[in-house]
Amino acid sequence: MSDKILLRNCRFIITQDSRRRILENKSILIEGNRIIKVSSNIKAKKDYDVVDCSENVVMPGLINMHSHVPMNIMRGWAPGLELKEWLNQIFKREAKLTKKDVYLGSRDAFNEFIKSGVTTTVDMYFKIEEIYKAAVESGIRAFLGYGMIDLFNDDKKALEEGRTKEVVKFIRSKNNELIQPIVSPHAPNTCSKDLLIWSRKFADENKILLGIHAGETKGEVELIKRKHHRELTRFLDSIGLLDNSILFHGVHLDYNYIKKVGRKPSIVHCPSSNLKLKSGMLNVYDVVRSGSNLCLGTDGVASNNNLDLLEEMKIAAMLFKVHQIEGRFKDVFIDQFLIDAVTINPAKALKLNAGFIKEGKLADLTILSLNNHLSNSTKKTILNNIVYAANSSDVKTTIINGKKVYENKCL
Ligand SMILES: [Zn+2]
Repeated sequence: MSDKILLRNCRFIITQDSRRRILENKSILIEGNRIIKVSSNIKAKKDYDVVDCSENVVMPGLINMHSHVPMNIMRGWAPGLELKEWLNQIFKREAKLTKKDVYLGSRDAFNEFIKSGVTTTVDMYFKIEEIYKAAVESGIRAFLGYGMIDLFNDDKKALEEGRTKEVVKFIRSKNNELIQPIVSPHAPNTCSKDLLIWSRKFADENKILLGIHAGETKGEVELIKRKHHRELTRFLDSIGLLDNSILFHGVHLDYNYIKKVGRKPSIVHCPSSNLKLKSGMLNVYDVVRSGSNLCLGTDGVASNNNLDLLEEMKIAAMLFKVHQIEGRFKDVFIDQFLIDAVTINPAKALKLNAGFIKEGKLADLTILSLNNHLSNSTKKTILNNIVYAANSSDVKTTIINGKKVYENKCL
């Protein structure tokens, strides 16, 4: 197969460049793992793999900022429970998972991601060696973190730190450009303060990103208040976990405080999971106003129940409106915020040379069909239709690191 792909005559290209331009009827040339040209006159050569995109929209590959991939084997388990009770059930079942279970769940999830146009995911779980194997087989780009939980026990803390060190060493030893480690303490209410402090230090010393569940429920805020005598957001700030951190959920964080002290965390909005487990509704308006970096995630299938990031955008957009019903932001801005939250914002958080379409950027691309939910779209309506009309069934092709990893021949 050629390592040069020509996406010819793309009906729309959502560039996500600094001017957020939408190009019409231009072509994209990919060589190796990079985009090398975006232009209206690229001539096809003999060794090019030419893809006619005249009925497609090409956008930067979707980046999912929060998942637990092995949970795909638990789709629909423990329904109707709120987070605390749900976790009790899930933890019991997770304790019984074999290596094979973790591998099969991960393989299923990565497959689902790729079919949904997701080119990168940030994952937290255990038995990382099995997840790694499944990720490499699928061709996805992934950040894999071992979810540390010490439940305030010193012996357990030492074990969890040791496990994280092993996982980082394992992933780095593979030297695979698609897979990177991430330091992943599970949450402030399942990790001791010392483990959280160690996590920050270890991440910084080894130049690894850090991702943690934070502010998912009111109960977590109350527990931190009782345990550490501080409001959760201030507690996180006091141990260096606001800046340069990826915070999953963030429903119950104090965004006025974040704005006041000028911290810039990445907040990963997971609307389906938060609504299903009745954890609350993140006020996206507050997140944007605070200067935080808004990103989007599916969370695991056990609390979602799918990995359709395009569908997640619609739910997030609806919730955004609930919280700013007086209409301080026009719809057109909300659409753009959501497109940013799955492309350029997460790329920035992950320090990835991706998230927008330009010469020199990584060739991670999602190609959608204009013959299904996006039919009759114009330059003016395409963003609104991607946010409100599209779902994973509109994904025609997914390209990761310059390779076609998924193609829907029916579209
Ligand atoms: Zn989670």
